[in-house]
Amino acid sequence: MDKIKDYIESNKERFLDELFELISIPSVSAKQEHKKDLRKTAELLKNHFVKLGLNNCEIHETKGHPIVYADKIIDKTLPTILIYGHYDVQPIDPIELWDQDPFKPYIKKTSIHPEGAIFARGACDDKGQMFMHLKAIEIMVNSDQLPCNVKLMIEGEEEVGSDNLELFVKNNREKLSNDIILVSDTGMISKTIPSITTGLRGLSYMEVEITGPNRDLHSGHYGGTVANPINVLSKMIESLHDSNNKITIPGFYDNVIEMSFSERERLNSAPFEIKDFKNSIGLKKEHGEIGYTTIERQSIRPSLDVNGIWGGYTGQGAKTVLPSKAHAKISMRLVPGQNWKRINKLFTKHIKKIAPKSVYVNVIEHHGGQPYVAPIDTIGFKAASKAYLDVFGLEPIPTRDGGSIPIIALFEQELKSKTILMGFGLDTDAIHSPNEHFGLSNFFNGIETITKFHYHFRNLFKD
Ligand SMILES: [Zn+2]
Repeated sequence: MDKIKDYIESNKERFLDELFELISIPSVSAKQEHKKDLRKTAELLKNHFVKLGLNNCEIHETKGHPIVYADKIIDKTLPTILIYGHYDVQPIDPIELWDQDPFKPYIKKTSIHPEGAIFARGACDDKGQMFMHLKAIEIMVNSDQLPCNVKLMIEGEEEVGSDNLELFVKNNREKLSNDIILVSDTGMISKTIPSITTGLRGLSYMEVEITGPNRDLHSGHYGGTVANPINVLSKMIESLHDSNNKITIPGFYDNVIEMSFSERERLNSAPFEIKDFKNSIGLKKEHGEIGYTTIERQSIRPSLDVNGIWGGYTGQGAKTVLPSKAHAKISMRLVPGQNWKRINKLFTKHIKKIAPKSVYVNVIEHHGGQPYVAPIDTIGFKAASKAYLDVFGLEPIPTRDGGSIPIIALFEQELKSKTILMGFGLDTDAIHSPNEHFGLSNFFNGIETITKFHYHFRNLFKD
């Protein structure tokens, strides 16, 4: 299998040249003026697929930016791997904080990447990570043949909510059918400690509006005689957590899947220092649900937070007003077992119930997403473990991510298959920020690990 290393070694320069060409196109999905650049990127990808000898290479039109698809079915009895990635990137502002042009990729050494890192928007998220899959396929096609069937689906709207991907997936269940989905759009613990994200939290986003009197009142004339919506709202919000910092909405924890003791042990074995955590955000003391560690609180436990609160007078000086309205935006991060639509209902019901009769209450639902969890006893996870062991000399640590990638839950719902989040970026790679970069060794090790995954997956699948 050292053929893989040799192939990478003798094609390094070309791999980078091709990646640089891809990164140089400013495919910022949030900006209308880049619409043409997104199409250009999609076409370049399609050309790569054609050159790889893939079949059904298509640019699928959507109401927004196109989705690029290709596949290669070499044998129907072999397993099929669906690869998902995105070719769109985040906007570049604030541009003045970039050391160089964000769309002129260059290599620079850093303390974390002494071998050098590629600096540019999209270097890591997700062009660099997505491109590793194309090069892995190239290696397999040229050195032997593909060990598994492959399908690729690369979208151009991930950074703006993947609105049109949902319809594409729902309309193409058969075309996209697979045995495992492989995604490289997350990170690993460090350059030498590989990890796989096995869980993502879901989201429920709500807004509460409390109305008291029909207009703002003079607090001298009326103060003490009517319920002040801000006072009322503050009290209601305060009551949403008990003294153990548990959320008090009835039924909120009903379906939460508790992790087994051994799973919790494994989760807590990830390198984590509470001191570093506190220092990194200038905190005196951590806070959270009693009975759980900080790692658990940010990954396997749900949370409820006020994201914004407003009402009354907030300008300069003093204005003695008794406000008519008070508002709050409240988000809840959800964990496996919880359903965001059910949580929305429970939240609304509870808020209406605890509001005093002296005010009117209105609850608005914003967006949401289901939580996701991938078990670690599947052949997909085992194949990934072997692949990482081959390349890094260590098995990956399963980690849970506190954030959400709603499309992963959608894949499970529509395609009935699990996703392996094989990410090679680092937290320090500044994705979504100025001077985004991606370590050269992360890139090349990623290509090697992905290639190995295909071989291990086929072997485990046969057993
Ligand atoms: Zn991404």
